[in-house]
Amino acid sequence: MFLLKNIDYLDHNFVHQKNMDILIKDNMIEKIRPSTNDNFDDFFFECNFEHNPEIIDGKNKAVLPGFYNMHSHVPMTLLRGYGEGLSLQDWLFTKIFPFENLLTAEDTYWGTLLGLSEFLASGTVSFSDMYMRIPGIVKAIDEVEIKANLCNAITDFGPGVKFAKTEAYRDEIFLLDYMKSNPSRKIIADAGIHAEYTSYPEQVLQLLEFAVNNNLIIQLHLSETAFEHEECKQRHYGKTPTEYFFDLGVFQQKCILAHGVYVEEKDLKIIQQNDAVLVHNPASNMKLGSGFASVGKWLDFGVTVCIGTDGAASNNDLDILQETRLAALVQKGLKKDPKLLKPEQLLQMITINGANAQGRKNCGLIKEGNAADLVIFDLDTPNMQPVYDLATNIIYSANMKNVYLTMVDGQILYRNGEYKTLDIEKVKFEVNRIKNEKLTQLGL
Ligand SMILES: [Zn+2]
Repeated sequence: MFLLKNIDYLDHNFVHQKNMDILIKDNMIEKIRPSTNDNFDDFFFECNFEHNPEIIDGKNKAVLPGFYNMHSHVPMTLLRGYGEGLSLQDWLFTKIFPFENLLTAEDTYWGTLLGLSEFLASGTVSFSDMYMRIPGIVKAIDEVEIKANLCNAITDFGPGVKFAKTEAYRDEIFLLDYMKSNPSRKIIADAGIHAEYTSYPEQVLQLLEFAVNNNLIIQLHLSETAFEHEECKQRHYGKTPTEYFFDLGVFQQKCILAHGVYVEEKDLKIIQQNDAVLVHNPASNMKLGSGFASVGKWLDFGVTVCIGTDGAASNNDLDILQETRLAALVQKGLKKDPKLLKPEQLLQMITINGANAQGRKNCGLIKEGNAADLVIFDLDTPNMQPVYDLATNIIYSANMKNVYLTMVDGQILYRNGEYKTLDIEKVKFEVNRIKNEKLTQLGL
């Protein structure tokens, strides 16, 4: 049990509330009220609770709902800085896929731990991820106790290869079995389609049937590059990737669509009408030279928007704060419109929108009865003073160093530079061992 004492926070409307006491019991936000001299003595008496919460001094601190990174490939931390200066197609086919073919579940375990350390240090409490060798990823997440929606996506099996005969299928079954024996829903199984250009229609239909039968959200890459978007039209009688997937029936499931740089107005209508979510990944789009998404237009069409870092090999970090700041600056500059993307709107994208998109009830906002998934910022640093508007400081002035504490389901996982559930020195050692091993295997 924790008592955040005399702390500022952003309420469910992202309004700055000052000097509050927030009581956290088990995995929930139990009570929020203006700070008083007592420590909920009357409340404990009424409820007959044990009366010894750990008090966290909220002076010069602010608590926000923890962040959702809605598109990542977390074990790609192992490929951070490997394969630079290439377009998406060259990068994938000449560097990334050959390296990934060598990865084992033990490798993805260590790569995931490294990614999770970055997530926690930047206030991330949950993420949506697409990657392979799922057992290693699940083991890491299970140990660290962060939240995640995971899938291993179908990726170019060749025509005629059945989804049920692939590693992606085996990983999906592993995830479903894990959920049966771990009903907390910290880890949720999603289904995944890497992209239109890395799959065949018959496999997409098999995957869809699997997703429908198991009631799974579908993650996919969509219209990331002009090349992909136009090539799809040539391959499928003028259909955009959105139209192609819509015609196959994919949008009958909830869809989390990454990138969307080249989606057209007709695509946005389909996305909005089918309650799908677009995930903006500005750093990756710029780094791979893919282009600039029109997030303002997405919002004009009423599409729900989230933000993601993509993998560390195309970003090259997993800091959702930097990503959000970048999203704001680039869109304003690009559209010559300083009114575009207000701080509260951006915070919504990385909190409640993420929670809803992942199908997590009572998450993503600080209010009584919600899960205690929180990030506490230290405001007592030069870059965070003075505070005219808290949301503005978080979006434009804050960085990872201002994150004091990250809590998931009422458990402190990161505090003041220390991890509670992972050994960061061992993780760094193992990741470098894997790097050297893979370079040797690749003859580099
Ligand atoms: Zn991606």
